[in-house]
Amino acid sequence: MNAEIVIALAGNPNAGKTTLFNAITGARQHVGNYPGVTVEKKEGLYELEGQRLKIVDLPGTYSLTAYSVEEVVARDFLVKDRPQVVVNIVDAANLERNLYLTCQFCEMNLPLVVALNMVDVAKDRGIAIDAQRLSALLGVPVVPIVARTGTGVEALMREALAVARRGQGPEHPAISYGEDLDSALLSMEAEIAKAPALARLYPSRWLGVKVLEGDQRIIDQAKAAAPDPASRLLELAETVSRHLDTTMSTTPEAMIADHRYGYIKSILRQGVISREFDLDRLYTSDKLDKVLTNRFLGPLIMMGVLLGLYYFTFTYSKAPIAWVGACFDFLAGQVDRLLADGPLKSLLVSGVIHGVGGVLGFVPLIMLMFFGLAFLEDSGYLARVAFMLDRVFRTFGLHGNSVLAYVLSGGIAGGCAVPGVMATRTLRSHRERMATLLTAPFMNCGAKLPVLAMLIGAFFSEYQAQFMLFSNLLAWAVALLVAKLLRLTILKGDSTPFVMELPPYRFPTFKGLLIHTWEKTWSYIQKAGTVILGVSILLWVMMTYPGLPAGAKAQFAAERQAAVAGVPAPVVKAATAPEEEDQAQVEGSEDPEEHPGLNGAEDQAAADLRAKLDDIDQRQSQAALEHSLAGRTGRALESVSWLSGFDWRVNIALLGGLAAKEVIVSTLGTAYSLGAVNSASSQSLSQTLAEDPHWTPRLALALVVFIMFYAPCVVTVACIVREAGSWRWGLFSVLFNTGFAFALATLVYRLGGMF
Ligand code: GDP
Ligand code: MG
Repeated sequence: MNAEIVIALAGNPNAGKTTLFNAITGARQHVGNYPGVTVEKKEGLYELEGQRLKIVDLPGTYSLTAYSVEEVVARDFLVKDRPQVVVNIVDAANLERNLYLTCQFCEMNLPLVVALNMVDVAKDRGIAIDAQRLSALLGVPVVPIVARTGTGVEALMREALAVARRGQGPEHPAISYGEDLDSALLSMEAEIAKAPALARLYPSRWLGVKVLEGDQRIIDQAKAAAPDPASRLLELAETVSRHLDTTMSTTPEAMIADHRYGYIKSILRQGVISREFDLDRLYTSDKLDKVLTNRFLGPLIMMGVLLGLYYFTFTYSKAPIAWVGACFDFLAGQVDRLLADGPLKSLLVSGVIHGVGGVLGFVPLIMLMFFGLAFLEDSGYLARVAFMLDRVFRTFGLHGNSVLAYVLSGGIAGGCAVPGVMATRTLRSHRERMATLLTAPFMNCGAKLPVLAMLIGAFFSEYQAQFMLFSNLLAWAVALLVAKLLRLTILKGDSTPFVMELPPYRFPTFKGLLIHTWEKTWSYIQKAGTVILGVSILLWVMMTYPGLPAGAKAQFAAERQAAVAGVPAPVVKAATAPEEEDQAQVEGSEDPEEHPGLNGAEDQAAADLRAKLDDIDQRQSQAALEHSLAGRTGRALESVSWLSGFDWRVNIALLGGLAAKEVIVSTLGTAYSLGAVNSASSQSLSQTLAEDPHWTPRLALALVVFIMFYAPCVVTVACIVREAGSWRWGLFSVLFNTGFAFALATLVYRLGGMF
């Protein structure tokens, strides 16, 4: 067996070095420290074509200057240990930044293989990279890989072995640093050629560049090796530095960095990167940003975009919502027709069909909302929103990244507090994180939207879009103010700086939008199908049992008989039907014109009787509901909730909402379809509420406010407990939010009463 070949693995942090290292070495690795420093040194073995390869994982660095221990360790290893091959792993999705390090390896004349990693991510972002072309332009082999799956890793190792066997690779083309520096470098190279002690030290051009950059470690080494030639190099550097300062007021270091990026850009522009990603797009993007994130115009445009999103969602969802509603009404009608009256029919119609139908009825709304949101997200505009809001966020003691948590929780539209709460993991400061975590559930999540839309639709249908926008702004204002409050009291402390990358704008693909929309909508439907169905049935049980006591039932029956007794025969025959049933069924929707031939007076008497019977039926079912388990709980809560105008039915729905906010709609639907509305009636819940005398606009508003801010749903609370690391925070968020919401709702209700 031949002697071991040493392969160094180098690259930017997060380029996937560790992943690649593990893919290559598997379990056969050794972890220690570099001598003298606490930087981790990992080594592992790989065998290929009977050749043992020793892989050394270098610390991740962006550059090879001497700013950090990692940079010094990586550089020293490359220079002193001289590995036979350097595998430079670059992130294909961030090629421009990653190639900066590659340029420096090229200058050091290292035997290099570029591992073009994360081509899967790049592809997802619509970036196609021509590896062969990149290889030709850099003068270095380039192997595309996906380190995470191991794709291309063997090809990479073969290429590395080939480079090792070939010995020193072909010379890399030198990068030009502009006329001034290039001619200085030429003079320096000539000096170095005359001093063998220096020439042995490093490749001469690289040494020259380091002296120009003012790299003190390298300068000291050069001085120690050959004092006189070294000082001549410094003089040359000094001269060109002064010249650059007077002519262009810049430094050699900045000039070198500029030219390296220029070199990279020119490579990338020569057909290396294609399809959607091109540099023109970056420039267009910059131009767009001048307007879209302008200090004054930016926020205005942002408001316009948000308003547009709402108009889009509400206008186009109207028709599909009606279709879905019609489908479920049809289904309910069929069940009503086919099944005998009794608990099973009641369960199916009121518990299952109305419960799930109420939730699915809002799927078109949610789909359109998510479609709009996906458009903003995929186009890159959402990141600008975060960027613009950062200034605001600081003043509230939060971090720029808090925006993401808020947006995910429903800060723009829809969303869900569960991923929102999880997104706070990007925040490093504990206090900022807790403040974000506790306030993110105030946002209008996708589950609250249908409830809010239903309430707003019932009383303010002409201003629906404006109201929804307002409620979103209110959510933001309250979340920020409460965050500030928390940061001034129980979460006192300093803020951390913010860095956020703005991805270039891109025109979203229709397919991508559909996929994103569908993913989010599907998770909503799944929730509706499982949790909500379960909760809906549980609530139906709570609302149906234990049922009215026999005495009360008999009393209603007697009332009915008394009402029927004093009316002419033909009408009695038509109206006695419902009397035979336990479950109250309202026959009021039956058309009076079905009884032609009755004269005016009889007609009047029939209508009166029907109204009377309706009233009795309604009072009976209401009594039954009040008597039920849910009714008793709701009633008990009335002793407090009268302050904000909530009656026991609202209380039941709000209790259900603790399981999941969507349940509020289905519970109100169940409550009202059991209480007053014929199961086969096509009235929507919105309409029912609008026509109910108990319901006033101020009650609707108070309820909207309460629903927006009261306790998060159980899943969110569970996440808060997990993320915060203590159940106390979960309990805090339930109690604090509910108390706060109740105070606010009471305020709205009482103020509303004054006007
Ligand atoms: P290091 O900092 O260079 O060691 O990078 P890591 O190996 O820790 O990788 C950073 C992240 O990128 C991890 O989450 C990896 O799972 C992920 N990653 C690495 N290689 C790939 C890849 O080829 N494709 C994808 N999709 N992700 C990758
Ligand atoms: Mg790593």
